Amino acid sequence: MPPPAASSRSTAAAVSKPAEKTHAQKLLDKLGLRRDIDLALHLPLRYEDETCITRLADARDGETVQIEAEVTHSEVSFKPRRQLRVTVNDGSDSCILRVINFYPAHQKTLSIGARVRVRGELRGGFVAREMVHPSFKLAGGELPASLTPVYPTVAGLPQAYLRKAVPSGVARADLSETVPAEGLSQLSALFSLRESLRFLHHPTPDVALAALEDRSHPAWQRLKAEELLAQQLSQLEARRIRSAMRAPPLAPPVMRGAQCTLYEQLQERLPFRLTAAQQRVGHDIDADLQKNVPMHRLLQGDVGSGKTVVAALAAARCMDAGWQCALMAPTEILAEQHFRKLIGWLEPMGIQTAWLTGSQKAKERREALALIASGEAGLVVGTHAVIQDKVVFKNLALTIIDEQHRFGVAQRLALRSKMTADGQEPHLLMMTATPIPRTLAMSYYADLDVSTIDELPPGRTPIVTKVISDSRRDEVVERIRGQLAEGRQVYWVCPLIEESEAVDLTNATETHESLSAALPGTQVGLLHSRMPVAEKKAVMALFNAGQIGVLVSTTVIEVGVDVPNASLMVIEHAERFGLSQLHQLRGRVGRGAAASACVLLYSTGDGPRLGETARARLKAMAETQDGFEIARRDLEIRGPGEFLGARQSGAPLLRFADLATDTELLAWARALAPLMLDRHAALAQRHILRWLGGKADYLKA
Ligand code: ADP
Ligand code: MG
Repeated sequence: MPPPAASSRSTAAAVSKPAEKTHAQKLLDKLGLRRDIDLALHLPLRYEDETCITRLADARDGETVQIEAEVTHSEVSFKPRRQLRVTVNDGSDSCILRVINFYPAHQKTLSIGARVRVRGELRGGFVAREMVHPSFKLAGGELPASLTPVYPTVAGLPQAYLRKAVPSGVARADLSETVPAEGLSQLSALFSLRESLRFLHHPTPDVALAALEDRSHPAWQRLKAEELLAQQLSQLEARRIRSAMRAPPLAPPVMRGAQCTLYEQLQERLPFRLTAAQQRVGHDIDADLQKNVPMHRLLQGDVGSGKTVVAALAAARCMDAGWQCALMAPTEILAEQHFRKLIGWLEPMGIQTAWLTGSQKAKERREALALIASGEAGLVVGTHAVIQDKVVFKNLALTIIDEQHRFGVAQRLALRSKMTADGQEPHLLMMTATPIPRTLAMSYYADLDVSTIDELPPGRTPIVTKVISDSRRDEVVERIRGQLAEGRQVYWVCPLIEESEAVDLTNATETHESLSAALPGTQVGLLHSRMPVAEKKAVMALFNAGQIGVLVSTTVIEVGVDVPNASLMVIEHAERFGLSQLHQLRGRVGRGAAASACVLLYSTGDGPRLGETARARLKAMAETQDGFEIARRDLEIRGPGEFLGARQSGAPLLRFADLATDTELLAWARALAPLMLDRHAALAQRHILRWLGGKADYLKA
């Protein structure tokens, strides 16, 4: 693929004709760099110091240096693989350059007698010191006065291109001040946005690199402050917009005589008493539903804490008031599980439910759509099929999203846009088993009300978690025999290797075969991501019915699957899973009265020991079963940027600031945001647009 031409015309400014996007523009799009300001805010990952030449004799092994030297020898060698081996000498010492994947042009540059400028890491080699994969060009030309930025990029978009495109973005972008004087006076960072960007793209070599790396430099402070301000402004604005919207108030109806509301009937029918925590969050939700402003509430509760029944009661409230309710789950298996459970509770009370998924037959679908449009179906359950354009509700007043972080932001927005005929918004209840630590929720989600179920239903026995080396697999199989002998069931989860579904599959199939052989007389089931939905359902049904004793699966044991008789969870290559994923998986057991266990099998691969973060994750799993504690540790191990970015929003929200350490800047932004919206509305809009551009909508989802 030829590198895109590095002409300044082909940068974001020329994107106005979308039909004629160049190759480079498409690649810039991938990086989210559409506007000049996006380019300007595309900051380097690190820098290379090309401002000086080091004498080879002065350079230490392991140091990355730039040298200027003459080529004294050049040959193509085939050991250990085809490569260009070139000896250079700068008068103080010589070293060997090893270039793998070279072209004739490279050979020409590195021909004997040529003077070249080379940059790379110097290593002690077998014969002489060497540089593997150095960058090089003919010597000559001025040395740059500032550090050379290295930008985040995608395949096919060379650094050389970004190094031209970014400065021209900085030059063209509107970088005028948006922070009002009241805010500036409290910012100790003296750099303006323009100065900060100029500096961070091209710092002078005398800068303390540590201050750039840990982002404590005033230029970084300024950028982080602005980013946090944009985030607070958009959240606050979203909150204000929402409070101006109207939603149908869902007050309990006045019943006559001995008649009961659905809500009361449902409570009567439950085979258990609600926990205090369930009652408390139920009250939060009830109070919201009775208002004429749309609810925007996140219900968080650990796996197994009983969120479904809370959702069902909210749905009953909605239907009691004569409105429709929709429940959306991220996968078909999970949606179906909800559907079954809710049907079991609601249909005996005379409620019609409708089921919508992508895989259903056309006729079935038409019937469901008709029930929804006529309003006969009071409750609609399904996957994202629920939000498709064709789905027309008669009077939707409440939407419930399970495992909200697994939906794309666009999908969440689409669901909210299913307004009522008279332009009212439905109430929105989002549920998640991946809790946001409280401090983060408070400071970050200014636009979200949060309720937490912080208590598990009574009678659950703790899950014993063991971390065991893969070399002791036989013992684990022995343990499985024990469980099966007691009539229990077992999950065996195989690793997730995101790059390769094919590898996942081989892994699961092999484990399935070996377990089948090791456990004669037991039905071992296999569930993997490539199976057709119908087949997955059939396997799940057999496991549900207790016919399958051991279920081997890739990651398709969906969050939310509920088989109380399963008492052992084995997770193979546990070191490859994220902490919250492990916690979710472990939550599949310990749902009945029997003592349950979770075995985390780890493999060190070819190395002698596990990596540090993998070890920290497994340790956390063994030490605690509390979802909030796990979320806290996860935050500690990974940092909040990634925590919030990947999981809660579907898109990284904060690129520069770190909520855990930039608390002062966050406090500044929180204080300034309301004042700015009130007194400097135009500046606020410009600031939001500059920082969030088209993404501002997403933040409000
Ligand atoms: P999650 O919060 O993970 O979605 P579920 O709603 O699936 O949890 O509930 C887990 C299990 O606990 C279900 O079998 C449910 O019927 C049961 N359950 C829920 N609330 C209670 C309660 N108050 N007492 C006893 N069992 C309960
Ligand atoms: Mg659930």
